[in-house]
Amino acid sequence: IPLELVQFCRDLVEERQITAGDRYQISFETNRDRLEVTIDDKILEHILLNLLSNALKYSPEGGQIEFKLTLKEREYTPDNPSDEAIVIRIQDPGIGIPPEDLPNLFKSFQRATNVGTIRGTGLGLSIVRKCVDLLEGQIEITSKIGRGTTVTVTLPRYCKQSS
Ligand code: ATP
Ligand code: MG
Repeated sequence: IPLELVQFCRDLVEERQITAGDRYQISFETNRDRLEVTIDDKILEHILLNLLSNALKYSPEGGQIEFKLTLKEREYTPDNPSDEAIVIRIQDPGIGIPPEDLPNLFKSFQRATNVGTIRGTGLGLSIVRKCVDLLEGQIEITSKIGRGTTVTVTLPRYCKQSS
């Protein structure tokens, strides 16, 4: 399914900003004007809305969330003549994640120990992980307690999966 990713992401961020009102600021940044990709828009939307929802939920009101979209041209390898990847990075200034909890959060019903009274079922990230796997991408989380969290999703520009 062909998709113009810059407009897609910009619209998604804008919609989320409207729902968040003035409680949060979500910035959108990219180094591209247009970016044609082959990615299932429903799966991608699911991934991004889940990650944005976490970024907002675990950040204090007034927090600035950053959404960055880039195209990474990997080094040429004979196996993969056009090995281009989409990199989407969502950064929040929230509560962060204790390092010992990080490895478990992609499992169902797992939540970090520092969530306090913030509600959640612990399912979002496990579904996100399945979606990323389906697209043959990668997801990585780095975090500092009390400072914030950065989630990086890397997807092939031309995904095989399309339904
Ligand atoms: P839901 O199923 O409603 O999404 P949830 O947000 O608790 O519930 P996940 O999205 O799977 O579940 O996230 C798992 C856990 O990872 C969270 O409970 C939280 O402890 C931690 N977490 C995820 N994203 C962030 C973030 N941006 N900042 C801080 N902690 C996070
Ligand atoms: Mg969640």
